[in-house]
Amino acid sequence: MTYIPNQNRYQSMQYRRCGNSGIKLSALSLGLWHNFGGVDVFENYRKTLHFAFDSGITHFDLANNYGPPPGSAEENFGKILYQDFKNYRDEMIISTKAGYTMWDGPYGDWGSKKYLVSSLDQSLKRMNLDYVDIFYHHRPDPETPLEETMAALDLIVRQGKALYIGLSNYETPEFEDALAILKRLGTPCLIHQPKYSMFERWSEESLLDSLEKHQIGCIPFSPLAQGLLTNKYLHGIPEDSRLARPTGFLTEDYATSDKIEKVKKLNEIAINREQTLAQMAIAWLLKDDRVTTVLVGASKASQLADSLKSLDNIYFEEYELKEIDEILKG
Ligand code: NDP
Repeated sequence: MTYIPNQNRYQSMQYRRCGNSGIKLSALSLGLWHNFGGVDVFENYRKTLHFAFDSGITHFDLANNYGPPPGSAEENFGKILYQDFKNYRDEMIISTKAGYTMWDGPYGDWGSKKYLVSSLDQSLKRMNLDYVDIFYHHRPDPETPLEETMAALDLIVRQGKALYIGLSNYETPEFEDALAILKRLGTPCLIHQPKYSMFERWSEESLLDSLEKHQIGCIPFSPLAQGLLTNKYLHGIPEDSRLARPTGFLTEDYATSDKIEKVKKLNEIAINREQTLAQMAIAWLLKDDRVTTVLVGASKASQLADSLKSLDNIYFEEYELKEIDEILKG
């Protein structure tokens, strides 16, 4: 069936400027790490992508290794792009990354120019694209000189294979070193992608200040702690959850009783705010305007529908923030 997007898709979404760039991103972005691979159900994730675009989500985040198997999320996304979104490519910000293991041997991992350039070429082929909007170095490489990695990112932009550059999982000192090199090369960094949620707050130590100072965007990943910061695990581990599935990276010890106790208390606050816990967890990130967009995952369209309602209330009273901090510290 031909897909016809919702004509009102831009009316309910909020768009936030990414640092001091020309780009605005939808307040929620959709990540394809899980649920879009070769092991997943095509019609289900196709529906999720339609729903996302129909709701005004413009940003879709991939990486070379997303699947499983690695590469399959890009292939599947490429198929749906071709089939349904051909006429809407210019309405989308599509990102991919390289930095984790992708192929055997010394050139399929980390941060060499050899790896980054060939990996992006492979990603473009898999997605059937001429360029991506954002290309990330996925994680810092302790062995390759930062100069080489940044020069590779600069080259990729000059070749027209990516419009913008992003960095992910870089801690502040190395991030600032990378920025200085990129600035000298003349290719600014558009955005940083850190792991950031109520359960993972290292970005608050200095990264967010650095991003503000340098006017660079921020796109927190795993904002729901992979599903833990939702009402999903309140009463055990459901069969259809990421924790129960064999293909993820989660083991049962991820949902410790200590964490579940905290989740239950956080859920009470969410109920008082007339939000689901997922909505509150996303709103809690968006309350900070240094955060450009929150990068959620979804195993079905209905989860995304729930998460999108976070935008109805991203305001927190001081006492709510204090209560949340107390629960998280406890
Ligand atoms: P989340 O923390 O948003 O977790 C998503 C999972 O939470 C879903 O798969 C689903 O779990 C559950 N969920 C989502 N919404 C709801 C809801 N409203 N109610 C109940 N459960 C819900 O994010 P991810 O960990 O998936 O990460 C998001 C994206 O971030 C990735 O797709 C990727 O693009 C990026 N990322 C980047 C990394 C990096 O190193 N740069 C690393 C990891 C992720 P279930 O499947 O159990 O239904």
